[in-house]
Amino acid sequence: MTRLPIELVETRRVQLPTRTDFRWNGLERPLGEVLVVRVSSGEHEGFGESVPLPDWGGAFGSPYGETVSIDQIVIHEQLAPFVLGRDAMAIGEVLASARRGIIGYPYALAALDIALHDLVGRAAGVPVHMLLGGRARRTIPLAHMIGLMPEEQALEEASRCLEEGCRAFQVKTGPDANRDVSLVGRLRDLCGDSVVLRVDANCGYGPPKRALDIVRALGDAGANFVEQPVGGREELAMVTRHSALPIMADEDCWTPHDAVRLVADGVADIISVYVAKSGGIAGASTVTRVAAAAGLPHDLNGSLETGIGNAASLQVAAASQAELLASVLPVSAPTSSGSTAAFGRYFTDDVITSPMKLVDGSLEVPDDPGLGFEVDRGKLDHYTVERRESRLGSGGEAEASGE
Ligand SMILES: [Mg+2]
Repeated sequence: MTRLPIELVETRRVQLPTRTDFRWNGLERPLGEVLVVRVSSGEHEGFGESVPLPDWGGAFGSPYGETVSIDQIVIHEQLAPFVLGRDAMAIGEVLASARRGIIGYPYALAALDIALHDLVGRAAGVPVHMLLGGRARRTIPLAHMIGLMPEEQALEEASRCLEEGCRAFQVKTGPDANRDVSLVGRLRDLCGDSVVLRVDANCGYGPPKRALDIVRALGDAGANFVEQPVGGREELAMVTRHSALPIMADEDCWTPHDAVRLVADGVADIISVYVAKSGGIAGASTVTRVAAAAGLPHDLNGSLETGIGNAASLQVAAASQAELLASVLPVSAPTSSGSTAAFGRYFTDDVITSPMKLVDGSLEVPDDPGLGFEVDRGKLDHYTVERRESRLGSGGEAEASGE
C-alpha cells in the first residue's frame, strides 16, 4: 500500500460573504469566518474546515469556546508536530497522535481530521463514505434555518424557501417565548401538515418547569420537536422525561462519550450530530453508530460551513445506519451557479468549484474521491484573511511559517 507521509499542514482564516445576518440565541457576532486546513503528501492533498464559535457550547461554561485564531495556534504549535511525517493512510494512528498534542479543541481537531480523510480518500480513489463503511443513502434531506428575526420577515423567508422545494425548517427561538409560539403557529398555517417544523431554543427556555410549559405550547402550535429547550444534561433529561413532544440534544451532546451517557440516562429522544463537535469525521461517525445502536434518530447539522465542511457532513450522514432527520446544512454553491436564492443559501459565494445538487429538498451525496468536491484555489485565496503553514523539515522536524 502506498505510504502518504504528511509533509504540509496549512491553515487559513477565511471570510465568506453572507446573504443576510443570521443570528440565534447567544450568537453575538456575524457568521462567515471559518478555519480551512490543507494537508499534503507528494502530489496528493486534502482539505478540511470547521467554524469555531467562541460563544456557543454547553451549559455552565462547558464546552468549549474556540476562535479561528486560537485554533491556528493550536494546530501549528500543538497538533502539527505530532502529525507531520506520519503516514496519513493510518488515519487512526495519526489522529491518536494528534490527540496527544492537546486535550479538547474539537474544532481544530475536526478541521485536521476532515483534511486527512479527504487526502486519503483522494489518494485511494474512493469517497470518504466508503472509508466509513459505505453509503446507506444517496441524498441528505435538508432543513432551512430561520434565524432570530421579526415574525413577518421569518414568514417571508419561509415562503421563499417553500417555493424552492424546502420541506423542513429549523426555527431559531429563545428570547421571547410568546413570539415563538405565535410564529410557529403562523408557520404551520403557511406550510401545511407535511412540512417539518423543528424549533431550536439554544437553551433559552430554562428552568425546566417553565420549559415544559413552553414546549407543550409549541407542540400545540404545530412544532414537530424541540431542540435544547434548556441547557444542562440533568435539566434536559427532566424536560425529556415529562414532554410528550420529542426533545433533541445539541449543546449537551458533543463527543461519543456524551452520546453514550445521553442514551444511558435518557437525556433526549434525538441527537443533533455535528462533525466538529466530536472532533471530526471519525468521532461524528461514532456518534451516529451510538444513535443507530440505541435506535435514536439524529440529524447531521453544522454551524454553516463552506462547501468543504459541508461536504464532510454529507459524507458522514451518507454512511450513517441510523434514522436521519432533515439537517441544517447549506446548499453550497459558487455565485451565479443557478442554485437556490434563499433555501439553504447562507452565503452568496463558496470556495467549491461546482454547486451542490439539490433534488426534492435533499442534497445529493457525490461518489467522487475524498469529500467529492474540488476547491477553487483562486476563490480560496481571494477570501483568505490570514494563512499559516507547518512543513516537514529536511531533518524530519516541523517548521512553521505564516503570512
Ligand atoms: Mg442547535
